[in-house]
Amino acid sequence: MDFELDQELLALKESVQKLVQEKVAPRAGELDEIGGYPWDIKEAFAENRILAIPFPSEYGGTGGKALPMAIAVEEISKASCSVAMMLSGQCLGSAAITIAGTEEQKQQFLPDLAKGKTLAAYGLTEPDAGSDVASLQTTAVRDGDDYVVTGSKRFITYGDIADVMTLFVKTVDPATKEKKVSCLVAERGTGWIVSKLEHKIGIKGSTTTELFLDELRVPVKNLLGKEGDGFKIAMQVLDKTRTSIAAQAVGMAQGALDCAVQFAREHLQNGKPIGRKQGIQMKLADMEMKTEAARFLTYMAADKYDRHDPDRGRYSACAKAYASDLAMEVIGGAIQVLGEYGYTKKYPVERMFRDAKVQQIYEGTNEIQRIVIARSLLGKGF
Ligand SMILES: Cc1cc2nc3c(=O)[nH]c(=O)nc-3n(C[C@H](O)[C@H](O)[C@H](O)COP(=O)(O)OP(=O)(O)OC[C@H]3O[C@@H](n4cnc5c(N)ncnc54)[C@H](O)[C@@H]3O)c2cc1C
Repeated sequence: MDFELDQELLALKESVQKLVQEKVAPRAGELDEIGGYPWDIKEAFAENRILAIPFPSEYGGTGGKALPMAIAVEEISKASCSVAMMLSGQCLGSAAITIAGTEEQKQQFLPDLAKGKTLAAYGLTEPDAGSDVASLQTTAVRDGDDYVVTGSKRFITYGDIADVMTLFVKTVDPATKEKKVSCLVAERGTGWIVSKLEHKIGIKGSTTTELFLDELRVPVKNLLGKEGDGFKIAMQVLDKTRTSIAAQAVGMAQGALDCAVQFAREHLQNGKPIGRKQGIQMKLADMEMKTEAARFLTYMAADKYDRHDPDRGRYSACAKAYASDLAMEVIGGAIQVLGEYGYTKKYPVERMFRDAKVQQIYEGTNEIQRIVIARSLLGKGF
């Protein structure tokens, strides 16, 4: 076992750190204030091949592995989770194509996504289908060479700006009339309408949308896998991308811990730094232990994904739930160390606290992660 990152991963970490210091950190507070998508940062990420990380090299990416994704997402999240979403979202929206696409489908969509010329969204959640994916209602009916899709989607990240959306629908078997979950690649301009932009408590620099699908036409050639493969594809995507959500949580926990350590060194009470108080030292030590534990679980889950370990789904659920629960605790602890200042916008920990809450919710709530973990332990029939 080797607990050190290899030279390639260390070089990636350093180059992302540098870019984050130059382009992301100075804009993080402002992005939280004004919201919207930071197009200038997206251009910098495209130029520096950050947006290429989720894609295999044969389609213009840098390899498409989960561990480099986790490392890059962690570094960006130390400064801004909203900006990390740019990379996480590109991976989430495109992973179904990488996992289940034919060679032709991959050639059609992945190279432009890897260059950052186009953006991707993941269209799974609906008004009546969040945790219970199988109950989704959006329907796709064959009409010649197209599917005609009708329904609505909710809480879709980048639904307003994405060029392609991996869209989960129910297709109808013409013989049996049975409805099956299927996955299509929909393209902008074919009938998805943004009916609402969500106002969120955090990650305000990433847009979240409600979509109305009004007779959206998707060519039959854009079906991923077979009709009925959609549920399996959706879960395979999440097995990969949940490690990236865990990395967001680890990055923010580390960012908050760094802020708390600096504050404890510099902030004086009675002429002495508060870091001299054992009560503060205990808090910092707990935050460090837990953040390191979450980081190693996250890296291990990503590495297991990359090695096609049969338990990779359980590990990514463990990492996502553990790291996101822990991030709330660590960031809350950082606010406590900063005292009254922690409760103000002078320091980034209040933003991190708001941003970190969502990792306990999206890509399956942490209750659902615990069900995934338990069922994987108990085996078939549970
Ligand atoms: C900012 C943001 C961005 C998002 N981006 C996307 C996106 O890009 N694409 C996309 O498809 N979705 C996206 N989502 C949706 C997200 O994945 C869902 O919110 C999530 O899966 C939970 O679904 P829900 O909110 O409908 O919760 P519900 O299913 O309504 O659950 C409500 C509560 O009940 C609990 N619960 C439900 N079932 C069980 C059970 N069996 N046992 C125990 N407890 C249970 C849940 O844990 C939760 O606490 C996003 C959400 C947010 C907040």
